[in-house]
Amino acid sequence: MRKYNIPIFIPHEGCPHDCLFCNQRKITGIDSSVTPNDAKCRIAEYLSTVKSYECEIEIAYFGGSFTGLDIGLQREFLKAAASFDDPRITGIRMSTRPDYIDTEILDMCAEYNVTAIELGVQTTSDNVLELNKRGHCFDDVKTASKLIKDYNISLGLQMMLGMYGSDPETDLKTCDDIISLSPSCTRIYPTIVLSGTELETLYNSGKYTPYTIEAAAGIAAECLERFRENNIDVIRIGLYSSDDLRSDGNIIAGPFHPAFGEIAENMVYRRKIEKTIIAQGIKDCELKIPAKPSEVSKIIGQKRCNKIYFKQKYGVDIKIVQMS
Ligand code: SF4
Repeated sequence: MRKYNIPIFIPHEGCPHDCLFCNQRKITGIDSSVTPNDAKCRIAEYLSTVKSYECEIEIAYFGGSFTGLDIGLQREFLKAAASFDDPRITGIRMSTRPDYIDTEILDMCAEYNVTAIELGVQTTSDNVLELNKRGHCFDDVKTASKLIKDYNISLGLQMMLGMYGSDPETDLKTCDDIISLSPSCTRIYPTIVLSGTELETLYNSGKYTPYTIEAAAGIAAECLERFRENNIDVIRIGLYSSDDLRSDGNIIAGPFHPAFGEIAENMVYRRKIEKTIIAQGIKDCELKIPAKPSEVSKIIGQKRCNKIYFKQKYGVDIKIVQMS
């Protein structure tokens, strides 16, 4: 069954925080307020474009901290989403902060068939959370995660790589801590320096150095493997590449790439092949790799980067043997 998602971005609404890295209006790609009526129009418009009846459609409130909105406004948005009598709609999902979850909110979510809540965990290091002015701690994540699961709502946990004060070890610890909370899904976002943020000031003064694309993709690949080993669905790697995000002068520095997820996937295969090369002491020869058609481009890598990597580092020529 094909799955669709109707994303409705609600920028910065309800969020009194100013995390170092956040310029929410830029991330969502929308610069004006969204009303429940706008949401209704967007849903109706989207539904009219999906001709098939053999599909599942989820309405997704993303972009800010949905449950930080005024409770009456939250209800209006939920009502707008729930007002469609379309059997293809399977539920509502939303993203929010870990400290904006309580039983009053979850009662209302249950009333309107909210099926998934994603929490912006970002990191599980309390020190990094404080340095980035997140205004919550890891205990808030644990409490909210348990509550969401108690309501039988699917749990999603989002993490960031390379935040101010973090390092690869801390990022991987975050990944392991997230696994310990058994979410259904995760999203992995590398930290990017955006114009107008406090992170930009830190970057300009030399106090913050973002990861390179290569480094961020390597850590994302390691996280990806760990999540997959634990049957946790990774539904996004990298920021959405909206025109606004990529507008002139907006991205100051950091590992932004429109195909970041693909690069991380390539890295997963690079790491696997490299383990074999090292374990078997393979050097200066041809290495035949059996692969399904869907794996070929991931093994070769973007712009043949994996092929080039193995040739340059080990003198190994990767040859794909296609399996049906
Ligand atoms: S809580 Fe979310 S929306 Fe608010 S400033 Fe932080 S990252 Fe941005």
